[in-house]
Amino acid sequence: MSIATPVLPELQTDLFIDGKWTLASSEKQFGVENPATLETIAYVADGTPEDAQRAIEAAGAAQESWGRTSPRFRADILRKAYEIILSRTDDLAAIMTAEMGKPLAEAKGEVAYGAEFFRWFSEEAARIDGDSTTTVDGNNRILVTKEPVGPCVLVTPWNFPLAMGTRKIGTAIAAGCTMVFKPAELAPLTSLALAAILHEAGLPAGVLNVVTTSNPSSVVSVWMSSGIARKVSFTGSTEVGKILLRQAAENVMRSSMELGGNAPFIVLKDADLDRAVDGAIAAKMRNMGEACTAANRLYVQRGVAEEFSRRLAERMDALRVGDGAVPGTEVGPLIDQDGLDKVQQLVDDAVTRGAKVLTGGFRPQEPGYFYKPTVLVDVPADAEMSRTEIFGPVAPITVFDAEDEVIRMANDTAWGLVGYVFTQDLDVAARFSAELEVGMVGVNTGVVSNPAAPFGGIKQSGIGREGGRVGIEEFLEYKYTAIPTTAPKH
Ligand code: NAP
Ligand code: MG
Repeated sequence: MSIATPVLPELQTDLFIDGKWTLASSEKQFGVENPATLETIAYVADGTPEDAQRAIEAAGAAQESWGRTSPRFRADILRKAYEIILSRTDDLAAIMTAEMGKPLAEAKGEVAYGAEFFRWFSEEAARIDGDSTTTVDGNNRILVTKEPVGPCVLVTPWNFPLAMGTRKIGTAIAAGCTMVFKPAELAPLTSLALAAILHEAGLPAGVLNVVTTSNPSSVVSVWMSSGIARKVSFTGSTEVGKILLRQAAENVMRSSMELGGNAPFIVLKDADLDRAVDGAIAAKMRNMGEACTAANRLYVQRGVAEEFSRRLAERMDALRVGDGAVPGTEVGPLIDQDGLDKVQQLVDDAVTRGAKVLTGGFRPQEPGYFYKPTVLVDVPADAEMSRTEIFGPVAPITVFDAEDEVIRMANDTAWGLVGYVFTQDLDVAARFSAELEVGMVGVNTGVVSNPAAPFGGIKQSGIGREGGRVGIEEFLEYKYTAIPTTAPKH
């Protein structure tokens, strides 16, 4: 295996509070590991509850003046930050690849995708609208206006270090909310670089405060119980989402949750198999399978199952696994030893229950947390991987006969983020779109994420939507003012 020494730009490693870079109050730091090389690439400030308190007070103090800024002022900051992000694509991609492993080409794709949320919300900032109507008795005018919800708690996972941040921060800026932000411990460097860019773009002090930490609950619980924060926006596991919802209840905070998924990927026998295999690679292998939108259960109709499985296995087998910093790498390492162990254990469990390995099923190289892209067939419904997020490059295939049967299996999960369906029959596509219990449906495509789309799930996959026209609403409150009309009606 070739090991690349990525050339990293100068890294921000301090906390960012009230417009200033500061050490943690403990002066401690924690290491950030490159999962391909196991080298420690940086030491980052290990924020404490005291730091968390300073951060939320800064966000609270900045809210009033920030909330009164003009939409154009906020839009211009986002637009400028968007331009800076794009101009630093190579640097940001190198940081992302080094801290969490995705191949450079994918990291550059995430820079473009993540930056687009800032451009999108720069446009949304100037389009915050309202409503006006008349009371039913005709005596009052009803004027509906929108106001920023107030200081927000933002918490993000490691798998999309830039986009998960910009999707929340861009929205909050557009809406006029201040923020305290805790990025993931495993991949904090991209978020710190993003804070530096927003500072450079002219974001006033206190609007965005970033606290990195190795003890997430100690920092985030200070914010949740502060009485200053009015909203929480979380992306991560369903388990942690539930903890934050319980904490949000205490202060009755608005809550947006982007949680886990267990996406069904359904191929009907009339499907264009070229597109279905391309779609499966996209939906399964984006980010090494470490995505909430990842195809987690592949259901293929009898008649095309064998051919689909063989073709998918060939494609998966040919993918180049390695250090994402090496040009040409298509599959990077998993995030850490726990992630790798989980994937291996899920594969072992499926095989024990009768699944067959068409390709992969092992760790191809060391020292990084690499896992060979894997295709399993005859995966039974009681396999653990049918009921849990795999979060790795493993495609489990199950054969089905009837549409009713596959819809029932697809919906037999507590999650409901996304479903994919491949068919050339428009009526069948429409039926699946209607009957899948999910927030998003991909018809003949393995990619659903886009800044213009309302991203999010139902059931235990979450509450609320990010992006699209509704995204900004999550950060706005409605106010209604009654104004008497001059001439009362009879
Ligand atoms: P996670 O363990 O839930 O962590 C997410 C964030 O929450 C991290 O910043 C984490 O800090 C923090 N956290 C952990 N415990 C906490 C606590 N008790 N109180 C407050 N914050 C806490 O999830 P992950 O393993 O990083 O990410 C993978 C999960 O995210 C998957 O389930 C995936 O499906 C989901 N995800 C969902 C979406 C979506 O839009 N629906 C998008 C991407 C990922 P540490 O980093 O220090 O642990
Ligand atoms: Mg975690």
